[in-house]
Amino acid sequence: MKSVVVVGAGFAGLSAAIELARAGTRVTVVERSGAAGGRAQRLVVPAGYTFDTGPTLLVMTDVLRAVLGERAYAALELARIEPGYRVGWPDGEHFAMHSNLAAFLDEMSRFEGFARRSRALAYLATVHEQYAQARRKILEVDHTPASFAATLLRPGRFAPWALGSLPRFARGYFRSDRIVQALTFQSLYLGTTPLRAPAMYAMLAVEEVVGGIWYLRGGVAALVDALEAYARSLGVEFAFDTRAERVLDDGRLAHGLRCDRAELHADGVVVTADREPALATLFNDAPRARRRLRYGHSAMVWYLGIEGAVNLPHHSIMLPHDPWATYAQLDRGSLPKEPLVYACSPSRTDPSLAPPGHAVLTLLTPVPNTAAVPAFDEDALFARVLARVERETGALGTRIRHRAARGPRGFAAELGLAHGAAFGPDHTLDQMSVMRPSIRHPRLRNVVFAGSGTHPGSGIPMVLISGRLAARRLLEAPA
Ligand SMILES: Cc1cc2nc3c(=O)[nH]c(=O)nc-3n(C[C@H](O)[C@H](O)[C@H](O)COP(=O)(O)OP(=O)(O)OC[C@H]3O[C@@H](n4cnc5c(N)ncnc54)[C@H](O)[C@@H]3O)c2cc1C
Repeated sequence: MKSVVVVGAGFAGLSAAIELARAGTRVTVVERSGAAGGRAQRLVVPAGYTFDTGPTLLVMTDVLRAVLGERAYAALELARIEPGYRVGWPDGEHFAMHSNLAAFLDEMSRFEGFARRSRALAYLATVHEQYAQARRKILEVDHTPASFAATLLRPGRFAPWALGSLPRFARGYFRSDRIVQALTFQSLYLGTTPLRAPAMYAMLAVEEVVGGIWYLRGGVAALVDALEAYARSLGVEFAFDTRAERVLDDGRLAHGLRCDRAELHADGVVVTADREPALATLFNDAPRARRRLRYGHSAMVWYLGIEGAVNLPHHSIMLPHDPWATYAQLDRGSLPKEPLVYACSPSRTDPSLAPPGHAVLTLLTPVPNTAAVPAFDEDALFARVLARVERETGALGTRIRHRAARGPRGFAAELGLAHGAAFGPDHTLDQMSVMRPSIRHPRLRNVVFAGSGTHPGSGIPMVLISGRLAARRLLEAPA
């Protein structure tokens, strides 16, 4: 394939562009905003604070290495954060999520007792083995229904437990409900509560233990910079401030893209804008959806500049008294009475992000998407979130020198995400792999999709994989 246009310069678009350019294809990336990154933007405010607006936790760095190649990957200033984060409860108890195995087992023993270390080891081994299988056989494969069924049915490939309930699976290994809570909340990274997530998502916590949580100097925005620079070194061209309006096609094949500024000819198109809205707006005859897609929960995020220090580790999870009740409220489509809070204070690791004597602090709490709750009182929610954080840090409110926020309505308006769902379609069993919207266009053989709206799902590693899968599908497409 000689030339391809990629719509969107987020992680999925960057990954697809790199894979195509490596194969010798001429690639133009069309991005409606003024910079690469999509959900991962660098926000620098006049007071001198620098924030990552979206992702902050870097995991599965082997996926980064595969996309960037050895040389560009080696140039990244990556540091492992140990412990990766601290989980806290309102009564003051904490659990440190270590990725040093001995430290992890010691920490676990405080809750479970020394004698149950072998159960913890068995949990890690079982889940890690399933993760390795899932990576090779499902996550990194663009299956057809037939090949997916064959993979599931082949003996030894996929353990039945992986399809069951996540908390029930964890309770089979651990007696302490707090350990179950600490090892299952991670499905919220995907916008799905542990109550509805399949047990295979136990792999999220286990891979944090095994592979670690990483920080890149300069934040996640520095990773965007590295991917864009690498793509440019392969000859990829970027058209920023350019909105894709229509994929041009002859009914069977696409032959280009009409943008607000120009018409671009291309032999193939990769669309990384959120898939379902893009299907409705970028194509001549929007195909009727085969079934209604369910979107995951969203997030309300505040970006705070603080005078003085913030007494928190780099990453903290503040669980409510009863997380299961909070999850049930989210799943019923209501704002939780007691919020769960993720706090990120990266200036602790990287002082360049704040002026001397100041700190940056990002607070995130899961909220329903706009289909469930179209609007809510953001200031009232902030007051509850801050009160929870201040239980850990002491008074903070009087030291806030900068405050900005983004919630579901912002994700919809500014990023074009359906129902403002920050993490895309829900990650439940009925919306995974071949049941998730396909990377292929239903009609046009040389159009593919990538990103969290398609396989394998949300998160930097997953959308990098989806970009690679989409590019390969395009390179293999019959002319
Ligand atoms: C608050 C938040 C926190 C997160 N935390 C983490 C985390 O800690 N770790 C992690 O791994 N993941 C995290 N994620 C998930 C991760 O950010 C996403 O999965 C990933 O960034 C999505 O990348 P993408 O390329 O698929 O989509 P996007 O980043 O949304 O990129 C799509 C791009 O397409 C562009 N576009 C759309 N329509 C058009 C058009 N018509 N013409 C031209 N351009 C267009 C958009 O402007 C955008 O730049 C988080 C997400 C959010 C929102």
